Amino acid sequence: MKRLEKVYEGKAKILYATEDPDLMIQFFKDDASAFDGVKKGTIVDKGVINNQVSNRVYQYLEEKGIKTHLVEPVNDRETIVKKLDIIPVEVVLRNVAAGSLCKRLGVEEGREFDPPILEFFYKNDDLHDPLINDCHAVTFGWATQEELDTLRELGRKVNTLMMEFFKERKIRLVDFKLEFGRHKGEILLGDEISPDGCRLWHWDTGEKMDKDRFRFSMGSVEEKYREVYSLVCSDPG
Ligand code: UDP
Repeated sequence: MKRLEKVYEGKAKILYATEDPDLMIQFFKDDASAFDGVKKGTIVDKGVINNQVSNRVYQYLEEKGIKTHLVEPVNDRETIVKKLDIIPVEVVLRNVAAGSLCKRLGVEEGREFDPPILEFFYKNDDLHDPLINDCHAVTFGWATQEELDTLRELGRKVNTLMMEFFKERKIRLVDFKLEFGRHKGEILLGDEISPDGCRLWHWDTGEKMDKDRFRFSMGSVEEKYREVYSLVCSDPG
């Protein structure tokens, strides 16, 4: 399938139109950004890693009955996906305390949550993706109540499945962000699932293997992204 004009360029990905109005090509860049674009940089081969990690996770989720935008990879950095009307409500699942939750609520990093915590954020860079609840989303027309109920149900299912998937690969799934979109009357999982949008700690050593290494200049960023790639993309023995 041929790549046509660029439709959208974000911080980490570019979306191209194709000859099929229902399909797009998602291109993964090596560009990295954090703290609302204040910190910028490059993570060598991040695009290649994130494209393939994301495809592997989406393939697994599809096998387990979750509908995603994944169609098929084109090459190392590009994948054909279904065109979505993205719902501007980011769904965050948390199994372990980290990141913004620790700051907001004064919780110590590493505390486990059972049941996991689910949060909604309004996807809006100018407003720094604020935390919202159902009333905000419905009142301002970002999603219907029925859609929010679906996001919650899908978010929890995806979390259960992903925790199992990563555990088998020696990775502790701390938290992650999902984006969903509308496609022909259905809600599909979109965007990407990669070390850019998940917190992933090594099961045995507790070492961080995700974008926090870039955010907080911890070093070995490429090395840890590659480690996630090899743990996720080679099947567990
Ligand atoms: N996250 C993301 N994009 C965002 C905000 C958060 O991918 O715009 C991911 C982030 O990588 C982490 C989880 O969602 O895995 C929870 O993020 P948190 O709310 O703790 O915010 P952060 O500390 O990343 O600012």
